[in-house]
Amino acid sequence: MAFDLDHTLTYYPLTTAGVIEATFGRLGLSLEPFGPAASVAARYDALWIALERQARMSDELRLMVWRRLATEKGLAADGLAEKIALEYGRVRRESGVRLFDGVRELLSDLRSAGYRLGLLTNGLSDSQWDKIHSLGVEASFAAIVVAGDIGAYKPDARAFRVLLDRLGADRERALFVGDSYDTDIVGASAVGLASAWIRPHGTPRPGAAVPTYEFPSVLDVREVLC
Ligand SMILES: [Mg+2]
Repeated sequence: MAFDLDHTLTYYPLTTAGVIEATFGRLGLSLEPFGPAASVAARYDALWIALERQARMSDELRLMVWRRLATEKGLAADGLAEKIALEYGRVRRESGVRLFDGVRELLSDLRSAGYRLGLLTNGLSDSQWDKIHSLGVEASFAAIVVAGDIGAYKPDARAFRVLLDRLGADRERALFVGDSYDTDIVGASAVGLASAWIRPHGTPRPGAAVPTYEFPSVLDVREVLC
């Protein structure tokens, strides 16, 4: 059984908008030239994913994103983007990342039940490994694959193949659990892996790929234990 990390097992106690507001507050800068925090946050998150494959380190990516945000608003990016990106990184690191309640017990119970557990996470090597180490979950998994390390991001089939290889798992008997339809479910379906989509109530299914299971919470994967 293998899992996605972000928003499947973990959450940020501070949202992107919250980090942006704290960053500008600490720097004594007005957010007004960039617009309302919620819309800056939405654009920030979209750019982060769009530019991810062009960067090797998260600090580099964060700077690329803030440069783009500044130039999109007609602001001179030099100096300003560096200052904001640096402080944003500090706020994000300080506010940390958490496991959803019950996840630690779930992983422990699954291992006790004999499941070999895998983790396949999109993202850059440094940021994903920082999260994995800070959460203390490394030992819970028999295989951990970070997309930035292998140069293949979900839904790329190569990412799932590396995971299965390292896990030594039979494709027919494996289950991939994730919250992102476009990366986790589409990717798992394309390589013939059963999948569980952690989807909030009421979210419509956006495509043709059909997950094997749909659950409102990752803790519900207990239902498929056998
Ligand atoms: Mg996710």
